[in-house]
Formats: sequence, structure tokens, C-alpha cells
Amino acid sequence: MDKAKRKAIIAGNWKMNKTPSEAKALLNEIVPLVADADCEVIACVPYVDLAAAIEATAGTNVKIGAENCHWAASGAFTGEISTGMLKEIGVEYVVLGHSERRQYFGETDETVNKRTKAALAGGLKPIVCVGELLWERECNITEEVIARQIKLDLWDVTEEELKNVVIAYEPVWAIGTGKTATADQAEEVCAFIRDQLAKLYNQEAADAVTIQYGGSMNDANADELLSKTNVDGGLIGGASLVAEKFAAIVKAASK
Ligand code: PEP
Repeated sequence: MDKAKRKAIIAGNWKMNKTPSEAKALLNEIVPLVADADCEVIACVPYVDLAAAIEATAGTNVKIGAENCHWAASGAFTGEISTGMLKEIGVEYVVLGHSERRQYFGETDETVNKRTKAALAGGLKPIVCVGELLWERECNITEEVIARQIKLDLWDVTEEELKNVVIAYEPVWAIGTGKTATADQAEEVCAFIRDQLAKLYNQEAADAVTIQYGGSMNDANADELLSKTNVDGGLIGGASLVAEKFAAIVKAASK
């Protein structure tokens, strides 16, 4: 397997942070710092920040993503946003199945799968998040949990569509907790995810998928995590809100 063949992707997940004017200010700081990045750089921002973010990054190498999308094209889904709405304003990526959506908003593998299919059909690139709870890791069922999520979240996603899918391995116990998985733990599960993809599709298709690690990745630990064979990038929460820290992670991924 040749890691160099895959696209390294560093994506910020801003969660529910920054107003549109604050988003613009942060991106104005980030853009020059990552201008010579040798990896894909994405900022996934709250819905109301998307237009400002797209304007602030126009003509730069920073791409903009949303933090969710609905599976229906339109209709009686108060509070939801469709892929067509996102696509029309220039959104390229969308985070799906984040553990906070699963934990606080009733997201299930079935709804993650529906959103993933809709995102792909609508021309968006989904960043599909999977990861085990601390309790599941302690019960030694991490692989079972991940295998199930990968199978269900990607149900009916074709090999051709898989080319536009990014997987983010985010152990739930490491998100926003300051507890990072060790580089070996991250590598072990990212390699397992690739094996699952090879079983569901084939080795060539699996080898081409970018698999990110997410969970308290920062400027101090990014180098080691990203040095691992199957860790092709990062989904960054807290550290993506500080331009210098985010840029340092981008730099680590560009080596
Ligand atoms: C995330 O929100 O996806 C995440 C990984 O957060 P943090 O980096 O803050 O742990």
C-alpha cells in the first residue's frame, strides 16, 4: 500500500462556534498560513457561517464544508438543510455521523447512511465519522462497533461513489476531552477500517480512501499521528479554532 497515493486531508470541525463575522476573521488568519499546503485543507463551519466562509476563501486552497445535511431534497423538515442548498452556495464537503450528532440528536447508522447517500447524489463529499465509546473499548468490542458502522453507514454506496467518501475515525472518548488515542491505537483502527473497506469493496478501492483520525489532535501530537501508514489526515475540533494551531497541523500533513 502506498500512502502517497492518497490525498491527505486536514479538516476543521468548528462545531457550534463563531458568528459569520468571526468566521470571516478566523479564515482571514488561516488562509495565508496554509497557502502553500501540500494537502487538502477544509473548514467545516456552522450553516449560517457558510456564505461568509465561502466568500473569505474564494480563490484560495481552503475548501468549505457543512456540519450536516438532510437526505430529502426539500419538504416538511423544519430546521434541516438539503444538499442542493449547500451545493448551490459552493459547499464541497459535509461532516456526517459526528458522535455529537449521534449522542445528542438521535443520529443512527440508518440516518447517517441516508445522509451519506444523499450527499453523494447531490455532489457533496461526505466525511463520515465512526468511532467507539469508552465503554465499548473497555469491553473489547471496538472492532465490532467500527465494522458495523462502516457497513451500515456505507450501505449501498457504490465503488465509484466511495472515491468521494472520506472516513474519520473518531474514538468518542478522545473528542474534546484532551485524551488523544496513541498513534498506535489510531493506526490500528484506521488499518482495520481499511481492511473492512477491502472486504466490502476491494483492496484497490480501500487503498484509495482517505481515512482521518480525529480526537484531540493538535499541533503537538499531529506529527506522530500523521506519520502512521493508515492515518491520512485529521478531523480537528478545538485546535481548528486557533489559526496557528490549525496551520501547524496542516504543515505536519504536508510533509
Ligand atoms: C471533532 O469535533 O471532530 C473533534 C475531533 O474534536 P476535538 O479535536 O476537539 O477533540
